[in-house]
Amino acid sequence: MSIDFSQKTVLSTKELFRQADFDNILKCVHCGLCLDSCPTYRELGDEKDSPRGRLYLMRGLWEGELELEAAVIDPLSRCLDCRACESACPSGVPYGELLEKTRGIILENTQQSLKERILRFFLLRGLFRSTNLLITASWILKIYSASGLPKLITNTFFAKLLPQAFVFQQHLLPKCSGKSFKRKHADQILAPLSMENKQEGAAQIRKENLRVGMFSGCIMDVSEAAIHESTLTLLRHIGCEVVVPGNQSCCGALHVHSGDRKTAREFALKNIAAFENRHLDAIITNAAGCGAQLQEYHHLFTETNAGKQKDTRPAADWKKFENKVTDILEFLSAYPDLLANLPWSKDEDTVLYDAPCHLMHAQKVDENPRKLLNSLPGVKLVVLNESNWCCGSAGIYNLVQPELSAAVLNRKTASIRQTLAENPKASTIVTANPGCLYQIRAGIRSNNIDLRILHPVVYLAERLLLN
Ligand code: SF4
Ligand code: SF4
Repeated sequence: MSIDFSQKTVLSTKELFRQADFDNILKCVHCGLCLDSCPTYRELGDEKDSPRGRLYLMRGLWEGELELEAAVIDPLSRCLDCRACESACPSGVPYGELLEKTRGIILENTQQSLKERILRFFLLRGLFRSTNLLITASWILKIYSASGLPKLITNTFFAKLLPQAFVFQQHLLPKCSGKSFKRKHADQILAPLSMENKQEGAAQIRKENLRVGMFSGCIMDVSEAAIHESTLTLLRHIGCEVVVPGNQSCCGALHVHSGDRKTAREFALKNIAAFENRHLDAIITNAAGCGAQLQEYHHLFTETNAGKQKDTRPAADWKKFENKVTDILEFLSAYPDLLANLPWSKDEDTVLYDAPCHLMHAQKVDENPRKLLNSLPGVKLVVLNESNWCCGSAGIYNLVQPELSAAVLNRKTASIRQTLAENPKASTIVTANPGCLYQIRAGIRSNNIDLRILHPVVYLAERLLLN
């Protein structure tokens, strides 16, 4: 099946859905077992804002009984795409794939508001396509943060005068580096550190070193530098050769979540070309959302064989690429002996753990990262109450649905308070997705909760006694 998007004005909604490889919607038996896991259903209490309700809407479109109108589109737009319903579903309904295809059809076949068109043009199709623009934006935000304006806005009477969404966005600002990680290391072969230092260590433990590629992303490439640097340090210290392809691009997850499958396809083709022929054993990601997207690239091409972005690659190419994509925590946890040989701090510490939706529900990675962190000498890991619930970040959901996002975040913040009250010694919370990190950090800051938040790899690297 294929959709020719050039015919969008003549094809009916039913025909568009019929051509979108949508038959899996029939797996839903309407049992409702997914309802209690849905953050928007919990907040709004409306069946249309539940997974089952949304699947009814999608099926109505697929069967031609419904049309693309606000009453149908709005509940689908309010979905976080957190995929908690997938984990709860006993029938294996691929909810995320169905929703993302539906959003693609909505975007291609409905009129967008001026604000949305401007956002898409400058942000999703402009900024994320260009490393130079991302570096420039990172510099501007770095200077803005250094100016003290965000603190002035959030910590003084301005917080009461200005719109609350704008005040909250100050807390969301990433720590920008003004530099690109991939450009710094582009295409070098970064050797295992123990070999470089000629010390006895991980490189002697493994007879053959693994060669891995690092995915650097878009915003992450120019912000939160400690996350990529810590990832690199850990990989090299367990004896990996690391390559950071300089021609890789954004993963396209934000685009897919908002229906822009065309731009996401462009990124998918760039990324497969950037990582192939480099003889990699694995492609490492440290952003749960990016990892999930990279592992599902083939979904983007099931409905476009006749479109302009005709994909001539065999399906096996995508499978080969996708199978190599591994989250850093899952990767490290496969080498417990190598990790055990590293010089870890034995200081006692209690750490709270939050499970990002796209790690747990999309990549199905859950137990190993927790085991890994809990196995560190001196560390007691406490899983957050409702760790498996979305924080409300969901790509750019906190910007386009600020009120519902804030309600979902409030629930997360309450869980953090409760877990912290039960574990008063905890000083740190870890979460393995940058979007969740920004969102939960904003929740903690705006609620004056005395906790620092880190990506788990930064916490791991912090506990390595390297000198
Ligand atoms: S998505 Fe799964 S759990 Fe939810 S109603 Fe359908 S079959 Fe039941
Ligand atoms: S993806 Fe999340 S918000 Fe959307 S229906 Fe499923 S559980 Fe609810």
